[in-house]
Amino acid sequence: MLVSMKEILDRANRENYAVMAPNVSMELDARAVLEAAEEMKSPLILDVLYKANPDMYLFGSYLRRLAEQASVPVAINQDHGQEYAHAVAAIRAGFTSIMVDRSALPYEENAAQVAELAKIAHAVNVSVEAELGYVGMGSNYDHDGISGLTEPSLALDYISRTGIDCLAVAIGTAHGAYKGKPKLDFDRLEEIKKITRFPLVLHGGSGTGEENLAKACKLGINKINVANDLFRAAHSELLKSDMEGNGVYKFWDVCSRGLKNRTKELIECFGGKGKAWVPETRGLPRIGAAGGENKMAAI
Ligand SMILES: [Zn+2]
Repeated sequence: MLVSMKEILDRANRENYAVMAPNVSMELDARAVLEAAEEMKSPLILDVLYKANPDMYLFGSYLRRLAEQASVPVAINQDHGQEYAHAVAAIRAGFTSIMVDRSALPYEENAAQVAELAKIAHAVNVSVEAELGYVGMGSNYDHDGISGLTEPSLALDYISRTGIDCLAVAIGTAHGAYKGKPKLDFDRLEEIKKITRFPLVLHGGSGTGEENLAKACKLGINKINVANDLFRAAHSELLKSDMEGNGVYKFWDVCSRGLKNRTKELIECFGGKGKAWVPETRGLPRIGAAGGENKMAAI
């Protein structure tokens, strides 16, 4: 079933676990991760980068159909929208959430631009994620891993000024494969959670180590973004399979199996197994009912 990301993350925050948020870009990877979530009875957040698919509108409507048919709660989130137009396009494409990524900007500008888009998104019941601090690239980890860690003392101010629904934090993870060993600042994470009691997001879940990730979930992370690890799992599965001759016809099935199995492992690691819930009764959608009794308005 299709739900807002806020609904998923408020619950994860209350019950102290994290929801798997795989990056998807087409039908097959989306299906593979949704099947994994269904088998694990776990909620799921589909993360979609602005240019992940050549046609965001077609893909958005396709993901909505898939999510509606799923037996578990699913949100569709634009990952790292970096321009005003990206956010508006995602809302129009039917996403139930947008990440307004202004992490490269100075604090004041970051907060002001996120607040503006949060106002627009909330008017149609679309949830908003934003990043305080800066999660860089694993390939530049020596610098990016420590250069922009989230300042706990700013977190509450940022949340109240922007009106966001969840906060992405920089605590020592990085995007993509790491050059070097990831070092997570768990004290910082604990402090941010203690101050905010807010749903927190971790970017750069790949290659971070399951022990680290499980600990981060216990200390207050509620959503973990994963891309590289899933591609790697699909690739390993291909290498193990016989692709000679007509064996190559199994190509997509084998990739899907790799994606699905890794997704299940990570759902378990993050504590999401068995956390799917039965939807509350919803009325017919009514435009303009966002935030009111009828939560279905723009979902
Ligand atoms: Zn990210």
